[in-house]
Amino acid sequence: MLLRHTPKEISERKALMINPAKTCQPIGAMYAALGIKDCLPHSHGSQGCCAYHRSTLTRHYKEPISAATSSFTEGASVFGGQANLVQAIDNIFTVYEPKVVAVHTTCLSETIGDDLPQIFDKAKKDKKVPEGKTVLGAPTPSYVGSHVTGFSNMVKAMAAMAEQGEQKNGKINLIPGWVEPADMEEIKRLAGLVGAKINMFPDTSGVLDGPLTGKYKMFPDGGTSIEDIKASGGGIGTLALGEWCSADAARLLDTTCKVPCSVIDMPFGLKATDRFIDALRTIAGTSVPDEIAIERGKLVDMVSDMHQYLYGKKVALVGDPDQLIAMTEFLVSIDMSPVHIVTGTPGKKFEKRIKEITADMGREVNVKAAGDMFLLHQWIKNEPVDLIIGNTYCKYIARDEDLPFVRWGFPILDRQGHQHFPTVGYKGGLRLLEQILGVLLDRKDRDDPEEKFELVL
Ligand code: SF4
Repeated sequence: MLLRHTPKEISERKALMINPAKTCQPIGAMYAALGIKDCLPHSHGSQGCCAYHRSTLTRHYKEPISAATSSFTEGASVFGGQANLVQAIDNIFTVYEPKVVAVHTTCLSETIGDDLPQIFDKAKKDKKVPEGKTVLGAPTPSYVGSHVTGFSNMVKAMAAMAEQGEQKNGKINLIPGWVEPADMEEIKRLAGLVGAKINMFPDTSGVLDGPLTGKYKMFPDGGTSIEDIKASGGGIGTLALGEWCSADAARLLDTTCKVPCSVIDMPFGLKATDRFIDALRTIAGTSVPDEIAIERGKLVDMVSDMHQYLYGKKVALVGDPDQLIAMTEFLVSIDMSPVHIVTGTPGKKFEKRIKEITADMGREVNVKAAGDMFLLHQWIKNEPVDLIIGNTYCKYIARDEDLPFVRWGFPILDRQGHQHFPTVGYKGGLRLLEQILGVLLDRKDRDDPEEKFELVL
């Protein structure tokens, strides 16, 4: 009963968050930067911030995360961090030899008012950025938004590097949003099957799901090269997955390089994957191969086979807006009832979308953007559910309320598999469904009286 003090009565809170359903902006920026090939992320702030960002990503991905820091002490905190960052850029290129350094700010450097473009100019003038190397930066003040905002800001900084070529390169820029490395791999596989040539950024596959080979590599083989990111300005179109994670970058490319963009939902579940495949097919001017139709059919088959165990089951969800929108739609489409939904990332558009998706459920849904897990727990106490889907922190609520729990989203600190097995696409839908059914049927086996305890379900 770790959360035994959570009261059932809900009182209005304006200036207090308890158990936030989010983490800090730079974590998202660091994750995005790791999707650039031969890139060293750099945290412009104190060592403590950087240690926290790295350790959170390491705990989730079970991989060492390399990142540098401006190591602010009292002096930098008072006089600004320019000297530290210029020195850091020099040291990083000299000692670690990355091709790219992707700098994000922190609460402290933003509060001081450090101006990254001006500091980068100074570093270039002082010849601290070697020929052919790149420094890019994103503002990520953590007192605004969430880790999702930080991810979006870093991806936007990548899009700002785009160069409008003389000719179109025939590729679709695909901005996948914050999904797992395995999801990025799956998105590339699906695009390949549709016959769409894509230029995807960022791409953490091959970076945070790498093999243990016995040989140390400072920079893993994966990631999108800076040349490809720059070439995105010559794309025939941009497909951005997720309004919160990817839309800003796509719209910037549209404005600066005249690359038309479509913003669609992340391809979790049946309908969102349908729209993703259709959008790819339309931009690429190809048709959908049988292989994809068969994968879709398998997902539909599992839904219809197991519908009796899914129908009407109440679900509480916590996570990031782009993921939750697609997941809510998936659950509604298989006749489950998502009833309590919380994201820590602000944005009233989220609540509107969720209400639209759940409009035909015949009941009001509790939904809150910029909410917290304390509120989610209170909602569950007032109206119990059959299942929780969310990040590892849900385990406290699941334990206290004795609820089946599927780990999905960020961060997952106490299980494995999320970085290796995709949940996007039709195959990903099968995995999601397998996980949901697994915990629901385990619970049924546990609770059924002996006369109803079945061998075959
Ligand atoms: S001080 Fe700000 S940037 Fe640093 S770890 Fe805390 S929330 Fe994140």
